[in-house]
Amino acid sequence: MNSLNIEKKRKKLEMFIKESLFVEQIFKDTKPEAYYAMDVEGKFVIANRACELISGYSQEELNQFSYSDLIIESHLQNVQTKFHYSLTGAIQQYQCTILSKSNERVDLEVTNSPIIVDNEIIGVYGIAKNITYFNEQRKKLKESERLHRSLIEHSPDGVIITQEQRVVFANKKASELLGGNKVEDVLGKDVSTFLKRYSSMLINNFSMAEKGLASELHEVKIVQLNNKEIDVEIKTIPTIFQEDHAVYFIIRDITERKLAHEMMINSEKLTVAGQLAAGIAHEIRNPITAIKGFMQLMESGKNYKQEFFSVISAEINRMEIILSELLALAKPQLERYRHRDIQSILKHVVTLTKTQAILHNVNLKTTFHPEPVFVLCDENKLKQVFINFIKNAIEAMKNEGTITLIVEKYDDSSVVVNIKDQGSGIPKKILDRIGEPFFTTKENGTGLGVMVSLEIMKHHNGAVTIESDSNGTTVSIQLPISKPED
Ligand code: ADP
Ligand code: MG
Repeated sequence: MNSLNIEKKRKKLEMFIKESLFVEQIFKDTKPEAYYAMDVEGKFVIANRACELISGYSQEELNQFSYSDLIIESHLQNVQTKFHYSLTGAIQQYQCTILSKSNERVDLEVTNSPIIVDNEIIGVYGIAKNITYFNEQRKKLKESERLHRSLIEHSPDGVIITQEQRVVFANKKASELLGGNKVEDVLGKDVSTFLKRYSSMLINNFSMAEKGLASELHEVKIVQLNNKEIDVEIKTIPTIFQEDHAVYFIIRDITERKLAHEMMINSEKLTVAGQLAAGIAHEIRNPITAIKGFMQLMESGKNYKQEFFSVISAEINRMEIILSELLALAKPQLERYRHRDIQSILKHVVTLTKTQAILHNVNLKTTFHPEPVFVLCDENKLKQVFINFIKNAIEAMKNEGTITLIVEKYDDSSVVVNIKDQGSGIPKKILDRIGEPFFTTKENGTGLGVMVSLEIMKHHNGAVTIESDSNGTTVSIQLPISKPED
């Protein structure tokens, strides 16, 4: 196109705008978007107020420019192509960035359309929207999304997201906890395969999530892909994933915590065993003295009697029983739940603690239920609980007196063991603190006995209540009755 022709078209365009009230009105309105008209070379012919605000140049200044003076270098070629397309009659839409008068980058969303007068294209209209803020926000959102994602990816907790119970997202830790080598191994799997024994908990959590509620923390065992079991804590939270309702699982490995806990229970047990040993040593010395006496008598050949043997043998038996009880208690054992008669457990405990009671001039009285009462329990742990409470009862009695152990059925489904002492009682203000780790009022106390016992009871679905006044303390231990054939 020669320059004369261009000039002619520009004049025609200027006239057209001036004469068309409608077009002129558009440029006068205070619209937030930039409206402008360019000649066929891209030089501005008219620009509205928004053009000034966006570019920082006045209308007079703009009229000296062509669009290409404003566009940043890297966008120029693309914008030129679009401009030429609009000169062929096609409406163009694109995004580009300009440099304002104050040298700031402004992102624009632009629409170009041809100006056709008398079947001739004499220029191009432009409408440009400032999308800098929008772009910034989008960038921030993307960044925060990326941050969030990376937080989840690198979280020390396992995170999975499920939809219709199937895993649709898992972080690395989760795939590890679920027994996969990589995330893909667990994607698409039904969560219930990992939580085989907890179907009712899962159903409950899912229905809570539907109502928009997060679950409590649950301590569960996960069955990994390789069928190994691990201890974890899980919590479910309702969420949205890819625009659909989903459930977010936080899975925390508690193997080490459990192990530490086990170690603490064990060390507490050893302390108790050590403390019991004093009473036991005393208890064993008596029969040994007696046996020695008999031996001397027999040696002298004087008062030799056949009955001596049965007395000696009974004393040795008793020593054997006490020692084997002590060894059984101190021996570390794997956690093992079995149906056991709680009364027979208590009888073993009495054998052990009686020696301690005798040392303190305390009488240990038992009232048992006429039939065996079964509970599903880790026998050794339950022994530990009873020993702890009986020891506390003995230690609370400064003067001689009686500790009464009563086993009764609370109802068809639970049994209660009451341990009643005639000790000093527990002052109201410290009653609440009992069970706190290391809370003790004794010079040589560990302050772990009650805490460990409460923990063990929790794992047995049992409950402990402590009532106390100046006449003494009663500890009631309630446990669910089990049926051995279950
Ligand atoms: P420890 O026996 O090593 O002190 P425990 O956890 O067994 O630790 O008990 C914590 C505290 O609870 C005791 O120091 C004592 O003050 C109080 N206590 C527990 N049982 C009794 C009881 N039967 N009578 C009075 N006080 C008790
Ligand atoms: Mg104690």
